[in-house]
Amino acid sequence: MPANFPGSGLAKGLAVTLRTLTRKTVTEQYPDVQPELPPRTRGVIGLFEENCTVCMLCARECPDWCIYIDSHKETVPPAAPGGRERSRNVLDRFAIDFSLCMYCGICIEVCPFDALFWSPEFEYAETDIRELTHERDKLREWMWTVPSPPALDPAAEEPKELAAARKAAEKLEAEKLAAEKLEAEKLEAEKQAAAGPEGSGPEGSGPESSGPEGSGPEGSGSDSSGSGSRSGEEPTA
Ligand code: SF4
Ligand code: SF4
Repeated sequence: MPANFPGSGLAKGLAVTLRTLTRKTVTEQYPDVQPELPPRTRGVIGLFEENCTVCMLCARECPDWCIYIDSHKETVPPAAPGGRERSRNVLDRFAIDFSLCMYCGICIEVCPFDALFWSPEFEYAETDIRELTHERDKLREWMWTVPSPPALDPAAEEPKELAAARKAAEKLEAEKLAAEKLEAEKLEAEKQAAAGPEGSGPEGSGPESSGPEGSGPEGSGSDSSGSGSRSGEEPTA
């Protein structure tokens, strides 16, 4: 063990100071400069209300029981005449108590309808713990701070939702083209039916053009002023 000589502590301290002076600073100037957080930061939970069907799965699975949901049932009239009335759940309250939440992410994992998302937002500290229970409006506001999902790997299989959407669009396009073709054929048939009698009727190829006047007895018949004998003329002596 090296012996400590007088002033060795001071020398060590100065060495540390000198080393640190030459290093790049890592101090974050928060709140003047916002930190750059990783995209998967677990800041707070955002709610996309339109996707929530009030299935209660998230509230049941939450280990801390800090999700509060209230709802009521509404009757929806039948979509077509003669159909049955349906009932659906309508969300009245969706709140999360962030003083109890342990940010495990189970609620987000189990939601079958993609209604809950992690947001990197973290500036929601309160001086009163009771104010850490945030209601649906606030959860919805946080939804707009959720980053977009990362791009797919170029070699990845196409998501089945995209394939289904493309198939539906192609089917619609084919139906539209078939309807347009049918309409065009119908119009063409109507046009031909309207123009039919004038173009190919009896006036064009009837007896006037090739009838008895053209090739009858007046033109080449026995009415001869040249060599034929006319039965009504008197013979000359
Ligand atoms: S993250 Fe975990 S503790 Fe927090 S609300 Fe969701 S399930 Fe509950
Ligand atoms: S699991 Fe999803 S859909 Fe069901 S109540 Fe929770 S947020 Fe709504």
